[in-house]
Amino acid sequence: MAFEGLSERLQNTIQRMRGKGKISEADVKEMMREVRLALLEADVNFKVVKNFVKTVGERAIGQDVMSSLTPGQQVVKIVNEELTDLMGGEESKLTMSTQPPTVLMMVGLQGAGKTTTTGKLASLLRKKYNKKPLLVAADVYRPAAIQQLETLGKQLDMPVFSMGDQVSPVEIAKKAIEHAKAEHLDYVLIDTAGRLHVDEALMTELVEVKEIAKPDDILLVVDAMTGQDAVNVAQNFNETLELTGVVLTKLDGDTRGGAALSIRSVTGKPIKFVGMGEKLDALEPFHPDRMASRILG
Ligand code: GDP
Repeated sequence: MAFEGLSERLQNTIQRMRGKGKISEADVKEMMREVRLALLEADVNFKVVKNFVKTVGERAIGQDVMSSLTPGQQVVKIVNEELTDLMGGEESKLTMSTQPPTVLMMVGLQGAGKTTTTGKLASLLRKKYNKKPLLVAADVYRPAAIQQLETLGKQLDMPVFSMGDQVSPVEIAKKAIEHAKAEHLDYVLIDTAGRLHVDEALMTELVEVKEIAKPDDILLVVDAMTGQDAVNVAQNFNETLELTGVVLTKLDGDTRGGAALSIRSVTGKPIKFVGMGEKLDALEPFHPDRMASRILG
């Protein structure tokens, strides 16, 4: 279960405050020490942890004694609010172009779940908003990637635009958008190439695709299981490409939670969706408040 360690530790800490009529400054300090440990154990970025604990601690010490909540409940409320805030506060939706098609550029390292997420997102756009998406196979370095997207297209009964692996991704993106316009399709989802590591050639090419495609959203797909690495990857991609959002995959797995809690704060970019399984309907919009409540149990 995702976030189990974090949830358990935070709940234990909070439990100890229950039934206390009054919370002293020393109690708050003690509690913040536990919260700090819980977050560090969950692989949350240490600077993020430091700021978080400071903010919560200050608010908890200065809390309004006239409140109808018990002191313990007040601290829980503060932790909940600050966790929500840390993850971006409100749901961050996709940008929609005033003139169709809306272009989404999907980027990420190999294995993060980029191609699967591209299919899932297209499926969600059709199901929820009745939109007509086009899937674009622009990962020309891994022939299997083109095939994978074509298979996904068949499964979803959705058009896939591909030009084989001998044409540059920039050309493919350009032609795909022209095609979508001609066919009156609403969304173009470009599945770009992933590599095992962030490298300069990959980045240069992605910048070129970005310049041609002028995407309304650039979504980085990262694997939640990789923790701090996911945050570093996000920071790297964001520096060169200026992402508009992140999709955090494999949240159905045994992830400790660090990436979910750190990405927004470290990169300034919101998590827009989370992957909750291998199936094509296992993609959900990300709600920071619901995630915070889930972590606190
Ligand atoms: P890409 O190389 O980034 O395009 O990655 P793929 O889309 O091929 O996905 C790599 C693996 O991760 C596949 O086996 C997917 O089924 C799996 N995967 C993708 N998203 C999720 C998710 O949210 N949860 C789980 N459990 N598996 C996922």
